[in-house]
Amino acid sequence: MKILVLNSGSSSIKFQFIDTDEQKAVAKGLAERIGIKGSKIKYQRPQEPEVHFEGDILDHQMAIEYILGILKSDKYGVVKDLSEINAVGHRVVHGGEKFKESALITDEVIKEIEETSDLAPLHNPANLKGIYAIKALLPDVPQVAVFDTAFHQTMPEHAYMYALPYSLYELYKIRRYGFHGTSHRYVSLKAAEFLGLEYAKQKIITCHLGNGASVAAIKNGNSIDTSMGLTPVEGLIMGTRTGDLDVGAFIHILEKEKISPQIGRVLINKHSGVLGISGISSDMREIEEAAGKGNHRAQLALDMYAYRVKKYIGAYTAAMNGLDILVFTGGIGENSDVMRKMICSELEYLGIEIDDSKNNGLRGKAQVISTDDSSVKVVVMPTNEELMIALDTEYIINK
Ligand code: ADP
Repeated sequence: MKILVLNSGSSSIKFQFIDTDEQKAVAKGLAERIGIKGSKIKYQRPQEPEVHFEGDILDHQMAIEYILGILKSDKYGVVKDLSEINAVGHRVVHGGEKFKESALITDEVIKEIEETSDLAPLHNPANLKGIYAIKALLPDVPQVAVFDTAFHQTMPEHAYMYALPYSLYELYKIRRYGFHGTSHRYVSLKAAEFLGLEYAKQKIITCHLGNGASVAAIKNGNSIDTSMGLTPVEGLIMGTRTGDLDVGAFIHILEKEKISPQIGRVLINKHSGVLGISGISSDMREIEEAAGKGNHRAQLALDMYAYRVKKYIGAYTAAMNGLDILVFTGGIGENSDVMRKMICSELEYLGIEIDDSKNNGLRGKAQVISTDDSSVKVVVMPTNEELMIALDTEYIINK
């Protein structure tokens, strides 16, 4: 099947046109600055140079109209006719408690995604714009929504509830949902397959370490816990997010600095994490470089980052009563041998032993990096959320 995968943000749309038989993108790109001066579309086909198109893009529908135009253009196209697009798969951030797996988009599903927007006010409305646009432009093409939260819907109640008054859950559905589900599912499946092990019988911890970062505990194929919560702020230290933080400390800061909850939200999402601690950057490459030159706060950011991941590995090993496979993915997990080594050091008690000769210098490639004696297999597995969305879209349509 040929599937167009869309990840619509508030002012951008990432797209990939994927051939699911080949499991490969035949074209991909990004429309940026939608509705803002200086809009453009970057577009690339494998083994071809990237091309840029500039011009006003007023809204998401216009952006998608241009993208479809490029996909069937004589010069850059990959289809002769838009009828070659069998389906469109959308990344949708929040599926609430309603969506436990991907869903064929109907008017009812759209209404339910709209209702869930309350839980992801920055993301779901943007994702919906992509859905409305395709409905208008390709009304006969089936669309599927693939939710970041769906994979974690198997978490048991004792893992997803917050110890708040129960009425807040009943009133507003305040609970932990988790995100990056598409990535955790993809890399855990791929890692088991790579090792030749039966997925449904493994205890797996997946560390998705990118700008946003989360860990998931996957027991017998089901996510039983994950580090992000109601929002993506909980859990690991991220590029610019705090991760776990004493809510008492947060309220104390609001009172001391006399700032509103809205500004407080910006503080914990955009000015904290690796950037906040180091004062240098949110980019791990720059932090590693600065730490290498002896910068104390950069080193502190690395130490805190690794320590937080390590604590979650310990916690989730306990939650699953053991561990078979530890997976690293995301920009940092796939590329930073330094961070992988820091996280895995002194975890021999849990059966985790890294082989430096396999870990050192490994970037962006699927590989086992544990020693032959390590009872836990440690694997680097590049994520591919777009491919997972395409495969899920195909699965839902065939169902
Ligand atoms: P996003 O969550 O935005 O998709 P990515 O998964 O691309 O982000 O991850 C971005 C992070 O990966 C950045 O912190 C970047 O510094 C880090 N990264 C990429 N390459 C390397 C590398 N070679 N060494 C260390 N960190 C890297």
